[in-house]
Amino acid sequence: MADHPLIACQHCATLHERVPLAPGSLATCVRCGYALYRVSAVSLNGWIALVVGAILVFAIANYFPIVTLSIGGLQTRASLPGALYLTWQQGDQMLAVMTGLFSFWFPLTQLLFVLWALLAIRARRLPDDFSYGMRLLGHAMHWSMVPVLMLGILVSLVKFAGMAKVQLGPGIWAFVVLAFLLTGLSRMTARRLWGLAEDEGLVQRASIDTNQSAPVTSCLACGLVQQLPDHEHSMPCQRCGERLHYRKPDQTSRVWALLLAAWIAYIPANVLPVMQIRTAASDSKHTILGGVIELWGYGSWDLALIVFIASIVVPMTKLLALMVLMSRRSWRGPVIQRQRTRMYELVEFIGQWSMLDVFVVILMGAMLDFPGISRVIPGPAAVSFGVVVILTMLAAMSYDPRSGWDKQREEDDGSGQASTS
Ligand SMILES: [Zn+2]
Ligand SMILES: [Zn+2]
Repeated sequence: MADHPLIACQHCATLHERVPLAPGSLATCVRCGYALYRVSAVSLNGWIALVVGAILVFAIANYFPIVTLSIGGLQTRASLPGALYLTWQQGDQMLAVMTGLFSFWFPLTQLLFVLWALLAIRARRLPDDFSYGMRLLGHAMHWSMVPVLMLGILVSLVKFAGMAKVQLGPGIWAFVVLAFLLTGLSRMTARRLWGLAEDEGLVQRASIDTNQSAPVTSCLACGLVQQLPDHEHSMPCQRCGERLHYRKPDQTSRVWALLLAAWIAYIPANVLPVMQIRTAASDSKHTILGGVIELWGYGSWDLALIVFIASIVVPMTKLLALMVLMSRRSWRGPVIQRQRTRMYELVEFIGQWSMLDVFVVILMGAMLDFPGISRVIPGPAAVSFGVVVILTMLAAMSYDPRSGWDKQREEDDGSGQASTS
């Protein structure tokens, strides 16, 4: 098996050889259908140019105002750093830190580390702390939410369309471009960067002694397939140092504990006001569902629907789907197992989108900041809602889709060739 590097499917642990494919094609798992790896049509230099472009756009998006609002003779310029600073100043430090990490620091970390890794691979010399950087990148990417922020900007703008004169700033266009660039760059994961380094012969490849009965598993951070002394044993990954387990440890207790905590935080998130709007004439408190009804009232049923899906349907779906994945473990058969895998993919995909309303709150705070005339104060539900999103994302990360496939392992043959599509 020395010709092509070994890889293991993230969802069902089936081993495959990473065979070279035509640019632009995708290899899927023979057993569960999960995407194993893509072969990019873009060259290494192309990716570097894309990241450098994204960093420039990131700077423009955060330096220039997103919008300028005017009421009477007064004007405010709203930018993302301004919104975060204002939220902090108003005493909502937790909300400011949470939204600041997801919309600013994690996307920035992602861009810088991808650039750093690509440059190192191109120079064919990896720095000593490459594995540390890649582990950090893996975590940062999971929580980088610029496309969600972009949707939040749109929703807040529609809410103001009737209240004030809105002038779009250069920042908003930069955010649109950045959202697209980061969606494209989300394919350049830490595992993929390890794969590129592997192709260049810069890092260790998997070598498995098939005569040994030791359990085979793969590192979730770098993808290296390796053997553990036994199923219960854990050790640092031979290549990147991340803790390596046969399956994610204590799955049942961790996922259930996080789900329970999420359900508890879900109640204040929906019952308490997410924000308070104070103007000279009125003082109103708004809940999440109330916000959806308001948007509907403004005539933007499409945005009302998006917010309803992101804030009500998505968290509910995530919580229920994870409960189904955790409970019906006696169901068997490859067809049902494939459906469970699809369900887990969905939970991972929709993970961050419920953060939408939390971004809307801080953005509206910055946009409606007319001292003495109007102010938006984040309500207690904003933090609770953010906590629900974080807890459900952590619950999804603690779930190990491979464990469901383990029961079928005896019936199936353990190794196959990657199929292309
Ligand atoms: Zn699979
Ligand atoms: Zn590793």
